[in-house]
Amino acid sequence: MIVELITTGSELLLGEIVNTNSAYLSSALNQAGFDVVYHSTVGDNRARMRSVMEIALERADIVITSGGLGPTLGDFTKEVMADLLGLPLCLHEPSLDKIKCFFAHRHTHMPVNNKKQAMVPEGSYILNNSCGTAPGIVIQHNNKVIIHLPGPPHELKTMVKDELLPYLSKHYPQEAIIVSKELHTYGLGESTVDETLRDILLAQSNPTIALLARPGEILVRITAKANNTTVAEELIADMEKQIRARLGNIIFSTDDKTMEEVVAESLLSNKKTIALAESCTGGLVTSRLTDVRGASAYLIGSVVCYSNDIKEKQIGVPHQTLLDYGAVSEPTARAMAEGVRRLNETDIGVGVTGIAGPDGGTPEKPVGTVYIAVAGKDETTCRLCHFTGNRTTIKRLVSQAVLNEIRNYLNR
Ligand code: ATP
Repeated sequence: MIVELITTGSELLLGEIVNTNSAYLSSALNQAGFDVVYHSTVGDNRARMRSVMEIALERADIVITSGGLGPTLGDFTKEVMADLLGLPLCLHEPSLDKIKCFFAHRHTHMPVNNKKQAMVPEGSYILNNSCGTAPGIVIQHNNKVIIHLPGPPHELKTMVKDELLPYLSKHYPQEAIIVSKELHTYGLGESTVDETLRDILLAQSNPTIALLARPGEILVRITAKANNTTVAEELIADMEKQIRARLGNIIFSTDDKTMEEVVAESLLSNKKTIALAESCTGGLVTSRLTDVRGASAYLIGSVVCYSNDIKEKQIGVPHQTLLDYGAVSEPTARAMAEGVRRLNETDIGVGVTGIAGPDGGTPEKPVGTVYIAVAGKDETTCRLCHFTGNRTTIKRLVSQAVLNEIRNYLNR
């Protein structure tokens, strides 16, 4: 069935808010097998809204709106649609009771205009709003389905997941559903991944494969269409096997797992502790590791050793090493990793030193030059990397590279 999404609100047109509702709805509906083929956005203007709705009702089977179900004068989405369809608005008593309870529970007076939220077009099916006061509305009219959803994203998402998708799959079961799986890779650029997978990409039909460049990673998204989840997952598993055979260890996770979560899991399963000496990243790697719950089981400590003085005093980088090679050098990175490991008595020590810019670069060591060392009981590895971008981008990219070095160290 053809779906058109109409997101309403002048702030969307003014660029004041990002239209996350349309992205979320598109993804959820496509996965459920519906063909979302049009997105429209219209401001808070009755005439323009009516004309957008007219167009949508001509070219789509299901028209879904988001926003404008609030109690204020500026909220009129369902009124415009009801007028267009020639349907009167009626009071939906259970919704009014719910709104009254909502205010009573908060010990606040219910403004009289909130009653407006319980007015629905005659014959509507009501979608419960478990996070707010505006009910969702489904209208079946002349072989079309019209759905009104609230604007606040958390209300909309909960309603779609708990109410709308079950309703649609019951009343409009789709022959095919879509399942996706994302493989996160680190270490090769988009064009190299493309080259490595070239023949697979050229031969793709179902599943399809998309490469998406994200900061610090390339995503390989495999999407299968099938009449049930099991068949779709089998198609994906087969394709994933072929891709893994080509990309191997550069795939660090699947779906939504972050690099820090992967490293944390690996530290835990290998029962290893870690300490870090961070210079150019200013503690960002440590911060990312502490974003993962249970970090205290493996993270012992960290030193932000920005100055040479602190590199010497707090983690024991030899004065002569700093004099001979400089702060941004392989010997210093190695001494940082070994020093922080020794002083904190951990299994692994990490040292990262580099030039995040915009100042401080030289022809031999331009901005973006970074040394990453990982020290263990028997051996210390060190990698020289070059990054480009502004200071914030470089810091973020370095932190990803450091986490990947730890991941590789643990996987050896
Ligand atoms: P309320 O009862 O809160 O007024 P509503 O259903 O009338 O809800 P709107 O007033 O249109 O919805 O939007 C409420 C808020 O929800 C907006 O200020 C905005 O922050 C957010 N919002 C609305 N539409 C979108 C959208 N398409 N994408 C992301 N956020 C949105």
